[in-house]
Amino acid sequence: MDASSELQGFYKLTLEKRREVLKKATSLTDEEIKALANTGSLSPETADHMIENVVGGYTYPLGIATNFRINERDYLVPMALEEPSVVAAASNAAKMARAKGGFTVTNTGPVMIGQVQVVNVPEPEAAKAKLLKKRADLLQKANDQDPMLVSLGGGAKELNVKVLSTVKGPMVIAELIVNTGDAMGANAVNTMAEAVAPMIEEITGGRVFLRIISNLADRRLVKATAVFEKEAVGGEDVVDGVVYAYAFADADPYRCATHNKGIMNGVVAVGIACGQDIRALEAGAHSYASRSGKYKPLTTWGKNKDGDLVGTLEMPMAVGLVGGAAKTHPTARADIKILGVKTATELAEVMGAVGLAQNFAALRALASEGIQRGHMKLHSRNVAISAGATGVLVDLVAMRMVEEKKIRFDRAKELVAELSKERKA
Ligand code: NAD
Repeated sequence: MDASSELQGFYKLTLEKRREVLKKATSLTDEEIKALANTGSLSPETADHMIENVVGGYTYPLGIATNFRINERDYLVPMALEEPSVVAAASNAAKMARAKGGFTVTNTGPVMIGQVQVVNVPEPEAAKAKLLKKRADLLQKANDQDPMLVSLGGGAKELNVKVLSTVKGPMVIAELIVNTGDAMGANAVNTMAEAVAPMIEEITGGRVFLRIISNLADRRLVKATAVFEKEAVGGEDVVDGVVYAYAFADADPYRCATHNKGIMNGVVAVGIACGQDIRALEAGAHSYASRSGKYKPLTTWGKNKDGDLVGTLEMPMAVGLVGGAAKTHPTARADIKILGVKTATELAEVMGAVGLAQNFAALRALASEGIQRGHMKLHSRNVAISAGATGVLVDLVAMRMVEEKKIRFDRAKELVAELSKERKA
């Protein structure tokens, strides 16, 4: 931009005034300003309280994935995202899983880790022993911060201490292991970690710097499995193709990144719909995938004795129903109601099932007809719209591009011109 990005006092202005300043600074048109002013189901006041320097809102399409049967219950799954074919793929995969009863998902409980970093510790190993000796006092101090959570059966349950060798010398890391109940738990755990820090300094004789939750939520895992009948997925060849696809991801991080991205297509879309911290979900997923020192798939695929396809997924799923946008965003609240989940772990289990379904759908498409056929059919509508098609022209242009197998912006532009001329004539 040509103007300065130092917008003095921007944070103090109302939304309306911020938009005026923005308009001047960026030469946005009235229409563009209107597009970003819309806060959707959020009131402008709520939006203004959620983050800083708010000028408006941003809306994703919200779709409902159908056919899901998880732990012998049916679910309609809200998904918010911009990518075509994800909702259709999830619904289709869930339909194929139904023949064998759908998805079975378990979880390890809503347990998060809060880390306290202590540096300049004179005797790290001795400090570790002293901290462990004071375990009960430290847990008590942590739990004093959140009587509500403790009253619900949650709270700090364990203390771990490790000595790390780092580029800045040895460090003592004290870890609070906290059951966060129906909360994602970042605020709750961070508050506890901050509260125990002075005690930890006193016990160790060191200096505390960081006091923060770990997003490698490896004590908050979901484990999902599903069996896909050989006949339902398209035969033995497709089953073999999916197993080979998994083996490829297991052996190669370049493939594995995309394999895991496909899982996150589902997980993140449900996460957004239900007001979750999707950065935390992504960080948890990819750090867990790398826990062996090699980046690995979050799912496995194999065959059972009948030749059916068996998929499993294991990944952290730090989600909450209290706190964050799950509580403040009206659409998130409605989506949680659509799902009908009663606890954070139930939501985590649904998201694990969706991740597995999404991965299956992508691998099946890749292993058979290729991803582009289905994808591009849906994508063609987006290309048509971006080339200027409106109303009935969207489908007409999209259809023509699919027929011609030329789903490209330049062709869409030509077709828009051609077909609108024809329609006028
Ligand atoms: P929160 O603090 O708003 O709510 C949790 C609190 O709700 C608990 O401490 C408890 O006192 C109370 N509570 C009431 N009923 C409960 C129940 N049934 N189960 C559990 N607690 C109950 O939210 P939070 O979950 O602690 O924090 C989540 C927010 O923290 C997210 O918005 C996230 O974006 C943000 N955050 C994330 C990170 C990170 O991931 N690294 C860091 C900082 C903040």
